[in-house]
Amino acid sequence: MFLRELTVPTDHIKGAGPASVKALARAGINSVAALLCYYPRDWEDRSRPVLLADYSRYPAVCTVVRVTAHDWFGFGPMKTLKVHIEDESGKAVLVCFNRPFLEKQLTVGMQYRLWGRFYYKYGELQSSAFEFEPAEGAAKGFGRVLPVYPLTAGINQGLFRRLIHQALNQYANPLEDELPPAIIQRDGLLPKSEAIRSYHFPESMEHLDKARKTLIYEELFYLEVIIGRRALERRTITAAKTSTVPNAKLSLLQERLLERLPFNLTAGQSAAIGEINRDMAGPYPMARLLQGDVGSGKTLVAFLAALRAVEAPSLEDISSGEAEPAKEKLRGQAAIMAPTELLARQHAENAARLLEPLGIRPAFLTGNLKAAGRSHLLKALAAGDVDIVVGTHALFSRDVFYRNLTLVVVDEQHRFGVTQRQAIMAKGDLPDLLMMSATPIPRTLAFTIFGDMDVSVIPDLPPGRKTVRTHLAKESNEAKVYDFVRKELATGHQAYFVYPLIEADINRDLKDAQSMADRLGRQVFKGIRVALVHSKLDEEEKRRTMEAFRLGEIRVLVATSVVEVGVDVPNATCMVIEHAERFGLSALHQLRGRVGRGKTQSYCFLVFSEHDGGDALTDDGKTRLKVMLENSDGFIIAEEDLKLRGPGQIAGIEQSGYLSLGIADPIQNAGELARARSDAFAILEEDPGLLFPEHRRIAAVLERAPPFSQIAL
Ligand code: ADP
Ligand code: MG
Repeated sequence: MFLRELTVPTDHIKGAGPASVKALARAGINSVAALLCYYPRDWEDRSRPVLLADYSRYPAVCTVVRVTAHDWFGFGPMKTLKVHIEDESGKAVLVCFNRPFLEKQLTVGMQYRLWGRFYYKYGELQSSAFEFEPAEGAAKGFGRVLPVYPLTAGINQGLFRRLIHQALNQYANPLEDELPPAIIQRDGLLPKSEAIRSYHFPESMEHLDKARKTLIYEELFYLEVIIGRRALERRTITAAKTSTVPNAKLSLLQERLLERLPFNLTAGQSAAIGEINRDMAGPYPMARLLQGDVGSGKTLVAFLAALRAVEAPSLEDISSGEAEPAKEKLRGQAAIMAPTELLARQHAENAARLLEPLGIRPAFLTGNLKAAGRSHLLKALAAGDVDIVVGTHALFSRDVFYRNLTLVVVDEQHRFGVTQRQAIMAKGDLPDLLMMSATPIPRTLAFTIFGDMDVSVIPDLPPGRKTVRTHLAKESNEAKVYDFVRKELATGHQAYFVYPLIEADINRDLKDAQSMADRLGRQVFKGIRVALVHSKLDEEEKRRTMEAFRLGEIRVLVATSVVEVGVDVPNATCMVIEHAERFGLSALHQLRGRVGRGKTQSYCFLVFSEHDGGDALTDDGKTRLKVMLENSDGFIIAEEDLKLRGPGQIAGIEQSGYLSLGIADPIQNAGELARARSDAFAILEEDPGLLFPEHRRIAAVLERAPPFSQIAL
């Protein structure tokens, strides 16, 4: 039995009552396997003594103490018990806030095993976070390393420990190993049963370390096996394909769209569409990630790809294909998915403007579409009367059917989870997939996560773009910023003002979008049309506002970070971000990318306060502002972001479900990752089918208990 095969429900665990089972279920833990994979966030080392005198050298004291006296301080109901203790090395005091009942449990003259975090205060060594048990009798919570679990409502630390301990005893003996024995031996790793047991309840910190190494390696190994298998499949596919010479040339409709544009494709855009065309002409589904900085023109590439999908196969395709010549092929459909309604609408409007004249039938689908319009649209989609549909996640609602969905484009893909991508992909029969992102992923990670995808990069921006001039301004100097913006407005340009809050929050001394829209409109920019947009407004109002801003009727748009992704209004030349210190680097970069989209010089003002919302400006806050001031390249900003956030917290990796690793961290464990990759690839090179006896275990894991269902694309 593999660990993940322990699908027994949690109520089979002895001592798991209905209340605990419910609480576990609320935390998403429905099986023994899930419970055993609910890993501790920390451990308390109670395996060896740490004397009171050594309190500052260890995270906690773990010793045997004698209670020497009780005394109280404070009055009436606020009275607090102090328990005086001593061990062989010194004296200390336990401060029992709100725990007067401890008077009875910690008796003067008796001895106790004690674990606690101590600090020096009022001339004595004190602890108010401690646990104890009588020194007489067998140790229960002592003499070992105890796990500390992330808590969830309805389950306390003690219950987690008991349930997991019990589950280990009932079910984890023995578990089948998942790693090949040769690797376990070579690296001195633990058998699976022991690893999982020791990760929860290690005998010592050394054991814990071995257990951790084992589990991390196992995770990374299977990650790479899965990626390796896909890479291998692709390689075979590519080899098989070379005879037909896939066609990278522009199609008829693509040519016609480009003729109508007032500009030429950049070299990066051309190369990307060439690669996409080649993929799409091939008999196997495309899986391509298109990376290009903010403003590099990814939307146009997506439209070109969509045209290719819609078109009936060109003559060249038919003549180079073998079996089925003149047979009439169904017109394809393309779905372009965007993370916000605002962005989806903008794409839909562009699609209508650019593609309708070519005889393409575009449509726009969001969750807010009214019943009548919606059912009409759904019918058209199912009948194949719509060629290109743009929308939000509504594109994969259960009641949406496509006649022949052949291309899925996911814009700002880091905003979507894998399940969402899978849901939209499932609407077609192996459609091509194009994922687009301006948020570059650090190389190591890209390698891991998109190891089986092809990548196109648009390295250049359209010609004539000027770097946005970025200025830092203290809040006390905001009047100067407003003056500057007023001059820009006077020349006919437009401006964004972005705030961290939608409405005022009495608990925080922060500017908010609502109040500022009012103030900017009435006082600062008198006589100029100012409007507000944020996520709580209804869609129709948002739509009208954005449309008026796009047309230049509204001159100043006050917003929250809803305008962060995708919004494209080239006449806007000023981006003012207030309380800029509160925004993350990737948000700042995206926001700044809203300006500098035309040929005119644009400006970004990062207005910060040194006492923001009552808190002092943090060092991280300062660093972020500095990074923004000194860099404009998204790739560099992403690297800086990674450094600042530290491993394991890369923008959206976990949340968006690219991959949810249990304990391995591809950045922190980069060395192990590289080794796991070469192990996995070596095995697959030699034995792609995993048929050798020594590889059967790997095949069995993949078949019976596959990890990472989430990375499937
Ligand atoms: P992003 O890559 O951030 O999604 P967009 O697709 O929104 O960028 O494009 C940004 C702006 O650049 C748009 O106004 C678009 O019309 C314009 N654009 C796209 N390609 C070119 C090009 N080759 N030359 C000039 N402008 C272009
Ligand atoms: Mg975009």
